[in-house]
Formats: sequence, structure tokens, C-alpha cells
Amino acid sequence: MAGAGQKGSKHMETVLKRAAGALPHNTPAFDVAAIRRDFPILHTTVHGKPLVYLDNAATSQKPQAVLDAISRYYSETNANIHRGLYHLSEEATKAYDDARHKVMAFLNARLKCEIVFTRGATESINLVAQTYGREHVKAGDEILITHMEHHSNIVPWQMLCREKGARLRVAPVTDTGELDMDAFRRMITDRTRLVALTYVSNALGTVNPVGELVRIAHGNGVRVLVDGAQAVPHLPIDLLDIGCDFFVCSGHKMFGPTGIGILYGRAELLEDMPPYQSGGDMILSVRFDETTFNSLPHKFEAGTPNIAGAIGLGAAIDYVNQLGMERIAAHEAGLLQYGTEVLRSVKGVRIIGNAAHKASVLSFVMDAAHPHDIGQILDEEGVAVRAGHHCAQPLMERFDVPATARASLAFYNTKEELDVFGKALERVNEVFG
Ligand code: PMP
Repeated sequence: MAGAGQKGSKHMETVLKRAAGALPHNTPAFDVAAIRRDFPILHTTVHGKPLVYLDNAATSQKPQAVLDAISRYYSETNANIHRGLYHLSEEATKAYDDARHKVMAFLNARLKCEIVFTRGATESINLVAQTYGREHVKAGDEILITHMEHHSNIVPWQMLCREKGARLRVAPVTDTGELDMDAFRRMITDRTRLVALTYVSNALGTVNPVGELVRIAHGNGVRVLVDGAQAVPHLPIDLLDIGCDFFVCSGHKMFGPTGIGILYGRAELLEDMPPYQSGGDMILSVRFDETTFNSLPHKFEAGTPNIAGAIGLGAAIDYVNQLGMERIAAHEAGLLQYGTEVLRSVKGVRIIGNAAHKASVLSFVMDAAHPHDIGQILDEEGVAVRAGHHCAQPLMERFDVPATARASLAFYNTKEELDVFGKALERVNEVFG
């Protein structure tokens, strides 16, 4: 993969070669039918048709193991954490702490205290902007983002720049939807204080070479935040290899519950940052004239956290670990290839985003119909896709489209579902053509 350091590149190359059948491998077959049995919602119908869920970039579905973990917590262990000396509270605290450990291991972070639970990727980015950003960005400084960012990795930086009199700079993307690397290099100046960029574009599927981008930025003494919201469900993540300073993602896009997210930050940076929110749990002691803040990561987790959410996320991580992220990536590479062929076979379809390295996201427009009309016809066939600007309006403008339709795949999707998707697109041509 172009998206990680040397070790990561080799590793992803292997994954993709395996997916293309170029390498022999002894791993057992990826049993999608069995996997699908773990997801109750995949067996429901919509308008009398079997659900074909292709909106995984918006949110993923949840396996029974996650639903059970949440239900078990509330029915057997519910108590507030860090507060009681009694059995239930200790159990709940341990379960919450175990979830943090699972996240640390899953992302290959160095320390458990570098993992902060938040509400989601959006809150994680706002946390960094409002703490690290406010401390380090001054008038005349620059923050560098890319043209393919989600609004949640644009607006917090825009607001910070406005507040500080700093300048938001935007590295361009090419016509195929790749980051313009030369421009990126040029745009890092001695005024750049932070680079914030996505690992995988939610609207194009582009996998950015984050390891290389981090090395370029670090070579210029610039810190990097990586938005991993769309990478974590598809690729094995190795934070030590990527080497970024901050990394954010959302539980609900990685088969866990909504309302829980992750901020990873290097311990030495988190240590120096002021708290984001204040109140209970983030303090060691409070007097009316002085408060001492708690140690990491508690300094950034004010108030009662989403305990059930963290436990559910831990169960989601156990689930995907047991499938294996490499096998997930290989299965999805096959699906992406098949889905691309399906789209190419439909008259009047134009794929938006043709990067050499893509995650399983298929954004497209059709001559015959507006994306919203496509979405509606597909819905009548039981096929759930997203139609709109995907919270990436500047990117839509870049490609000169008001919106796209987007099919985004997960490991539980099948080629048969993509055939249903293709047939539904033929119907769009029949209705509107
Ligand atoms: N970044 C990217 C690339 C995303 O796709 C999303 C969600 N669509 C977010 C950030 C924000 O995630 P959340 O809404 O879960 O905070």
C-alpha cells in the first residue's frame, strides 16, 4: 500500500497481490455466508426485497457479538466507573479499561494512556483543534489540509485559523482523485504548524500514502493528524509504523456502536495539552482556588463516559480480529474490483475517484439521473447507497459535480449483492433514460 511506511507498504502489497490471486496462500477461505449470519440486520427486507446494504462509509452494521456485549453490560455489570469500591463498579471499570487496551493493540499504539475515548472522529478532531491547535497556532501560521477532507477535518481548522489569524492551506488532488504529492511537499513551509489529512477519502475511496506524508511533514518539523475514520474498517492499522502524532476514528464505522470514538495522541503531546472539557473524572483534586488535572488519558475524559459504547467497541475489535484485518482487506479488494466492473458495464456511469490505491468505495454519477433519483430507485430495489455531497462539498466542486451516488462496501458484502446493485442501476436507465 502506498498508505503506510516501508513495512506497511510491503505488507499491503502482499494483501493486494493475494487478493488478485498473484500469491499462493494457505489461509482458509473467507466464509462470507457464515459471517453474514452474525449480522441480524443483513437478513431483513426493505420494500419486500432483501436488504443490500452498501452505505458502510456512513455507518457499518453491528454483529450479534457487539449487541450482546452492550446488552450484557447493562443487564449484568452496569455501574459508574472509577467511583465505587463495590464489585459492580470495579467490574465496569475493568471492562472499560479492557476496551482501551483492545483499541491500543488494534491500532498498534505504544501506550494505553495514548488512547482517549471521545464521541467520534469529529469530536476527536475538535479536541485537538481546541487544545493543541489553540496552544500552538498563532497569527501568520499555516495549517495544511487536503482537498479530499471530510467537513469534520476542514471546519475545526477553519474556525481555529479564523480565531488566530492563521491561514488554512489546501493541498490539491489530481483528476484521478489522488493527492498531488509535489504540491503537498511545496505547500509545507516554515509557517506550517500542523498537517491534518485523511487516510482514506470517504467520497473517493483514495488511500493516501500516510506514512510517506508523515515523513515529509516530520522532515520539516511539522506535526500530523491523520483522520482514520474510513481506514480503520478496511485496512490493518499500525500507528507505530505510520508515525503520526494524532489519529482519530469512530466506533460506529468499525462495526461498533455510535457515540464512541477514539483519539490517539503521542503521550508527550497529550501531556502538554490543556484539557478540552472539564468536570468530574478529569481532575485529581479540586479546591476553589486551584484544580489539579488527572493523568492521561483521564484528563481528556470529563464526566461519565460512554461505558457501554467503549465495551461494544471492544467487542467489535475482537470480532474483526478474529476475521483478520488482512483477510478483510483481501476480500474487499476483490469486491472493489468486481463492483468497479459492474459500474463500468452500466451505460452512462462515470466513476468519480480512480486512484491506484482505493478502499472499497464506489462514487459515481449517471448521465440519466441525478444522484438523489439513483438513490431512490435503488432503495425501491432494497439497495441502500448514499447520494449527496458526503460532507465533502469542496471535493464535489473540484470534480464539478453537485453530488454523487456512493456504494461503500464492507467485508460482509458479496458479489451477488453487487449484481443486484448493477441490475438496479439498469432500472435507473430504464426509468430515466
Ligand atoms: N472523517 C471521515 C473521512 C469520515 O468519513 C467521517 C464520517 N463520515 C468523519 C470524519 C466523521 O465521523 P463521525 O461523524 O463519526 O464523527
